[in-house]
Amino acid sequence: MRPHNLIENAPLQNLSTMATPAAARYLVEATDTGEAKAALAWAQEEGLPVQVVGGGSNLIFCDDFPGLVLHMALKGRHWTAMQGDCATLVLAAGENWHRAVLYAAAAGYRGIENLALIPGTAGAAPVQNIGAYGVELSDTFVSLSAWDRQLGEEVVLTTEDCRFGYRDSLFKHEPERYLILEIRLALSRSRPWSLGYGELSQWFEGEAPSSPTAVAEAVMAVRRRKLPDPAQLPNTGSFFKNPVVSQEQWESLQRQWPEMVAYPLDDGVKLAAGWLIDQCGWKGYRNRTVGVHHRQALVLVNHSSGTGADVLALARRIRDDVRERYGVTLEMEPGVVPSGCGLTPPA
Ligand SMILES: Cc1cc2nc3c(=O)[nH]c(=O)nc-3n(C[C@H](O)[C@H](O)[C@H](O)COP(=O)(O)OP(=O)(O)OC[C@H]3O[C@@H](n4cnc5c(N)ncnc54)[C@H](O)[C@@H]3O)c2cc1C
Repeated sequence: MRPHNLIENAPLQNLSTMATPAAARYLVEATDTGEAKAALAWAQEEGLPVQVVGGGSNLIFCDDFPGLVLHMALKGRHWTAMQGDCATLVLAAGENWHRAVLYAAAAGYRGIENLALIPGTAGAAPVQNIGAYGVELSDTFVSLSAWDRQLGEEVVLTTEDCRFGYRDSLFKHEPERYLILEIRLALSRSRPWSLGYGELSQWFEGEAPSSPTAVAEAVMAVRRRKLPDPAQLPNTGSFFKNPVVSQEQWESLQRQWPEMVAYPLDDGVKLAAGWLIDQCGWKGYRNRTVGVHHRQALVLVNHSSGTGADVLALARRIRDDVRERYGVTLEMEPGVVPSGCGLTPPA
């Protein structure tokens, strides 16, 4: 059945924080699970491709979308399984992530305060296993409920099922399959703080924070110093993932570039993509429409009416430069819609 709230030829510019112009053939804003499932069923009957969108802070629209854009606006949050110091926070997919962090912190529960000010929705948080300042969503994640479009039924997926990795999860590998409806996080009033990250440890100078809200506020202050607010200057945060190289490649890079910034992992070495881009001279670059932020080389920004094609053209030049100089290939973090428009593989 045709959804009652279907909009035809809907502009998408306001549904992505990069604010590139595009339109959807159809758009539905789902405010409950019934509306979301009905919209998916209708798209299937009509043979239309579907693009799920939350806050649009990790998506770039590069062209018109020929199918249904499903905007997840399901709201609701509550506590469950409260026992001793622990409780489970349940968030509907369309809940604003940052507000959920502040809500949990105000209740005295720890675990996600380092993830303050990450834009977007709770439902998208597992997709790339959001992370910042030494904490990832997977650290507190318990399970989620999703509509499995392949099986046509609601399923519960645990941490193990979600196959979380660095900015990675099952949902990136099966992008058409799951519509996340609700997530559950295990928080605690006595969990150890995670303050190892340089700027946060400097902030507290060895003193224990007074509350999770104090940590969230410190994170917000640190982030505001470095990252542009998408409401003022459209962007999608980190544009490239930090590349992971083998120990052998790292040793060879370090011989040539002793000052290169990197972090050891169990299975290789993570390089700082921002450092690589900065060293290639891109920080602060700006053309007529788009550019690279002057304080953070990892953030591409849309200065004035840049299109998705403008953003991708700049990204391609940066990726090719880094590859030529360091032999390391940067991968984009945000998704590109429609999916065929991404960066062309390097020559
Ligand atoms: C200024 C800025 C700073 C940022 N900082 C960080 C950071 O520190 N760490 C970090 O990890 N990320 C960061 N990001 C990226 C982004 O905020 C996160 O990836 C966020 O989780 C995206 O949420 P969203 O609702 O905007 O998702 P969208 O951009 O709308 O969607 C992202 C992906 O998730 C899918 N999706 C969305 N909702 C659902 C759902 N309900 N079910 C199934 N799939 C869904 C979409 O189809 C798409 O593939 C930043 C972005 C910006 C603009």
